[in-house]
Order: sequence, then C-alpha cells, then structure tokens
Amino acid sequence: MTRQKLTILGATGSIGLSTLDVVARHPDRYEVLALTGNNRVDVMFEQCVQHRPRHAVVGHERDAEPLTARLRAAGLATEVLAGPQALEFVAALPEVDAVMAAIVGAAGLPPTMAAVRAGKRVLLANKEALVMAGALFMAEVRAHGAVLLPIDSEHNAVFQSLPADYAGDAANSGVSHILLTASGGPFRTTPLERLKTVTPDEACAHPNWSMGRKISVDSATMMNKGLEVIEARWLFNLTPEQIQVVIHPQSVIHSLVQYVDGSVVAELGNPDMRTPIAHALAWPDRVVSGVAPLDLPTIAHLDFERPDFERFPCLGLAFRVLRAGGNAPAVLNAANEIAVAAFLDGKLPFLDIARIITATLDRVVFAETPDLPAILAADVEARTVASDLVNRWLA
Ligand code: NAD
Ligand code: MG
Repeated sequence: MTRQKLTILGATGSIGLSTLDVVARHPDRYEVLALTGNNRVDVMFEQCVQHRPRHAVVGHERDAEPLTARLRAAGLATEVLAGPQALEFVAALPEVDAVMAAIVGAAGLPPTMAAVRAGKRVLLANKEALVMAGALFMAEVRAHGAVLLPIDSEHNAVFQSLPADYAGDAANSGVSHILLTASGGPFRTTPLERLKTVTPDEACAHPNWSMGRKISVDSATMMNKGLEVIEARWLFNLTPEQIQVVIHPQSVIHSLVQYVDGSVVAELGNPDMRTPIAHALAWPDRVVSGVAPLDLPTIAHLDFERPDFERFPCLGLAFRVLRAGGNAPAVLNAANEIAVAAFLDGKLPFLDIARIITATLDRVVFAETPDLPAILAADVEARTVASDLVNRWLA
C-alpha cells in the first residue's frame, strides 16, 4: 500500500497531538510530510524527531534558525519555514494527499483554503474557517474537487449517520433535521450569580473533553455549539430550522439525524477525538484509534435537556448571525476570539463575552455578499472594534 502523505496544520495543539497519536499507530498507512505549530518549539522538535517530516513551519521567524540547528544536530534534514505564507505552502504541497486543518481560530482560514484550492482531502477541525467564509469555502471545495471530512465530533457523527451518498439534498435523502448534542459545558448547572466571577481555569475544566483553551471557553459559553450550528449549515447544506441543539451531559451520543419516517440514526462512542480523527484519516476504511470500546452499563444513563438560551446567550447570537448571513458570522467569530482571549487573560468577566460580541455586531457595517478580501477585512475591523470595547470596559 502506498502511504498517505499528510500535512498537519496545528500539530502542537490538542487535535494535532491526537492526530499524531493515531498516525503513529499506523506507520504502514501514513507518512507526515509537513507539520506546523505556532510557538511550542520544543514540542515541534520532539514531533520532528519522531515523524521526520520534510517541512516544519513555526509561527515566528526568530524560532526558525534555532530549531533548524537542533534538528541538524539530531541528524534531521527537515526544512524549517516560518509565517503565514509557509502555512499555505505546506497545505498545498503537490505530494500531499491529506491536510489536517487544526489551527485554532481565523488564522486557520488561509491555509485551510489553500488546501481546498489544491484539491486535497481536507480533515476539517478548524470550524472557524467555515463559520467565517462558509459560502465561499464550500464553493471552492466544489470547484477544486476537494474532499471535505469533518473532524468536529458532532459533524463527524452526522456525516456517519447520513446516507453514504449524501450530496447536500436533505429532502431527497429523507432527512427531516439533525440534532447536534452539547454537553452544556462546566457551567450547565452553576448558579447564574456565580457566573459573574468564574475564572479561566474553571471555564476550561470541561466535564468530558480535554481541548485547547479557546474552544474550552467556547464550550463554557456554548458559543462552540453556536459555531457548530453554522458549521453544520455549510457542511450539510441545511436551513437553520433543520439544525437543533440538544443538551446531553454525558457526551456519548455525538449527534443524530432524524429522518422523515421517524428513524433516528446516531453515532456513539467515548468522548475522545481520536475516533473522528481516525475515521476521517482512514475513510472509507476503518483503522484502530486507541480509543477504548464503549461500555454502556458503566455509563448507565444518557440524559437530555433543551438548551437554555438565557443562560447561554452566545447560542442565540450564533443563530442570529446564521440567519443574517453575509459578513455577520465572520464578525461574530472575530469578536468572540477577542473577548475569549481577554477573558483568558483575566481582563474580562465571563458574562461580558456575549456583551462584547453583541456590541461588535451592532457596530460593524453589514455586508450581504462579501468576497474573501471583504470577509478578511470584516474580521480585522471586528477585532479592532471588539478590542476597543474591551479596553473601554476596563477603563
Ligand atoms: P489548541 O489551542 O490546542 O491548538 C491550536 C493549534 O493551532 C496549535 O498547534 C497552535 O500552535 C496553532 N496556532 C494557534 N494560533 C496560530 C497562528 N496564529 N498561526 C499558526 N498556528 C497557530 O486548539 P485545539 O483544541 O487543538 O483546536 C484546534 C481547532 O480544532 C479549533 O478550531 C477547534 O475549534 C477545533 N476543534 C477542537 C476540538 C478538540 O477536542 N480540541 C474538537 C473539535 C474541534
Ligand atoms: Mg464539537
């Protein structure tokens, strides 16, 4: 078997580490051609020693030379590159078969788009790319024959629960709607009064999943589910009315598809991202992921609730920008990134994250059919507006 050649964008993050864990179990199937990270250079060095990629991309030029020196001393020929252009370069390398898009936030959009335009098999973890530029992104997928496979556990579950030949026509496939499950995060039952003073570490202590800090805060506000609603709209060509959210605290059912005849098809498993990663890497085959089999008697109960839009205003904001369309999702995403970063820095109270996003949406001019430069401009403007708001909040 010829080995699949991989580029892993965001190799040093939570999804990146899980991806390399699965890859390392199948040296006969996968070969890492390039990996990228922002500033965890020691981790990158170890990853290079283990996987011997041809290219490694660091975030900052200042880190390139020292890493190169360490690699040469270790007898490795890996070429070290730096910066956003290099990310796009390794995402589109002619020899690469599949690209894991696991950079967090808007920074992931340009290299993910480069992989799409190069017609790669794209394993999409970076939901922010689809939230910002869903219409354009999907048009490029079609135009370049890229194969898009969802890594987000909910979307991977929906993908597995839809007919194998599903091509974006819900009505023709007998699909009534989908149900995205949400754990409700660490604050599902926390007294509302307490939410005023919760700390970044409390917000990042997710009950079921171990993830990067940005997405962990998004889970605590349920903005993560909001972003996933928008992501599902584009991945599966659904209307907002065809996407429901259900709280399921155990995170065992990863999502469901309701068919018109009453059938509901779901994917279940232990909450470990190596399952959707292995699924997408091997699709349509199956490979071992390292995840333990599901033991239902140990789990014993599966619970469900309706989401509380008052406790989680970010979820409502996401539905609002989905219905508005245009540049609104990009503005929401940018304002959220700024507000979450300020919260993680200890500068912004938890409950003000939604307020900053609402105020930013009110201030950035709406554009109905932005092209990619206009989306990136809306992203920049929303960051400026949201940062100003955060600073004024503090003053
Ligand atoms: P993380 O913070 O653990 O890792 C992010 C990666 O992106 C790191 O390798 C980091 O070096 C890189 N990065 C960050 N900023 C960068 C920049 N400006 N330029 C280049 N590289 C940069 O995040 P994560 O939890 O692994 O999440 C990655 C993506 O996957 C996110 O979009 C997230 O929403 C999505 N996702 C994550 C999970 C999960 O379980 N962690 C589940 C579903 C979806
Ligand atoms: Mg998810």
